[in-house]
Amino acid sequence: MADLRSMDTLVSLAKRRGFVFQSSEIYGGLGSVWDYGPLGVELKRNLTDRWWRSMVQHRDDIEGLESAILMHPRVWEASGHVSGFNDPLVDCKQCKNRFRADDSRLKGTPGEPDAQCPVCGNKGTLTAPRQFNLMFRTFMGPVEDAAAQTYLRPETAQGTYVNVYNVMQAARLKIPFGIAQIGKAFRNEITPGNFIFRTREFEQMEMQFFVKPGDDEEWFAHWREARMQWHQDLGIRAEKLRFHEHCPDELAHYAKQAEDIQYEFPFGWQEFEGIHNRTDFDLSRHQEYSGKRMEYIDAESKERFIPYVVETALGVGRLLLVALVDAYQEEDVEGEKRVVLKLHPSVAPIKAGIFPLVKKDGMPEIAQRIHADLQKRFRVFYDDGGSIGRRYRRQDEAGTPFGLTVDGQTLEDQTVTVRDRDTLRQERVATDQLIGYLAERVVG
Ligand code: ATP
Repeated sequence: MADLRSMDTLVSLAKRRGFVFQSSEIYGGLGSVWDYGPLGVELKRNLTDRWWRSMVQHRDDIEGLESAILMHPRVWEASGHVSGFNDPLVDCKQCKNRFRADDSRLKGTPGEPDAQCPVCGNKGTLTAPRQFNLMFRTFMGPVEDAAAQTYLRPETAQGTYVNVYNVMQAARLKIPFGIAQIGKAFRNEITPGNFIFRTREFEQMEMQFFVKPGDDEEWFAHWREARMQWHQDLGIRAEKLRFHEHCPDELAHYAKQAEDIQYEFPFGWQEFEGIHNRTDFDLSRHQEYSGKRMEYIDAESKERFIPYVVETALGVGRLLLVALVDAYQEEDVEGEKRVVLKLHPSVAPIKAGIFPLVKKDGMPEIAQRIHADLQKRFRVFYDDGGSIGRRYRRQDEAGTPFGLTVDGQTLEDQTVTVRDRDTLRQERVATDQLIGYLAERVVG
């Protein structure tokens, strides 16, 4: 058994099997923007559904929200993103390449004659570092002037903060409570790359948990553990996961405490979820900038305070990448290489492949009936092309947990062979028991 060694292998599998395509590929592609294909959208939906079920559906103290991507431009002044969401950048005047000022390939001091461009090799062509705002700018209405300027949101969190009391009153919530949101965010990243790890358009699953000041550290510890457990329950290998605590100079402008959950990708340990204690920073700033009170009033004690916020922020694309990298295995089966995605059955795009062993003796008809039956409940796939071994391999690469084969014995006793993707064990299951069999194993 071997893990994934190179990202190129995954990028090509993702394209070939329809998980992820490069955006606008026929025009040469668009930098760090990706599209999800038939298997990719299924996997993505299953991951977001699993998150939503655990965050919202299974709890009484968290409600959902879907706020708009476009928001009042003052929101981003209040949040600190207009002034603080910057990366220092260096340009090469010769070859026009752009680098982060902390790029380890830069030699010498940018802006000085000794500095050397890592791409064209020229000396003295690098500019001094300049601030670069990561927010995408756009204009509302017919006139493209400063008054009409707004931004594509760089996080979903602000849409939650400005709605906190709408949600609280509508859903009759009391502190502590949370608001969960899944939605697109945009960042004009300067050093994107590593496939879908860092993209300019991406989706986030964020949950803001509002607590009484003083209870924030306890809730932070709770969510830190809960989020790590969630990834392990999804089947991500524990030895590939770790926490990384932000030291003071890494902390974002709003945070008192932050820990990342990191995964060991082929390109190293990297964050894919952040747990942040954002204190009362955001709500206080919205109170200041909007002039509206953002205080919570405790119904019993009549105490007033601006709640503290503990946030869990997870990127959908990054989670999908973790799921794919962790699931990828190359195995030697009877002298042949088998590529298999051992995805958790609850998130696998296709739950079962249905195969007639041969295209005669009524086997295709029985297989099609089973397919039509199962299709009402699960995403399943009918395949009668090529040898049974090849059909199994195709589903292994797609991460399909079960293969159901209609064979000679089916004609005699109405059972099918069920092959398990991971153990390769085969057992016989009666055709009228298949719905229950799959439900027990693939519903997460
Ligand atoms: P990074 O340091 O990697 O840029 P960040 O610390 O800025 O990430 P947060 O602002 O905490 O990230 O965002 C929360 C989550 O959103 C991240 O853990 C990641 O999963 C996801 N995310 C952030 N930026 C991107 C991006 N450009 N592409 C894909 N996912 C992203």
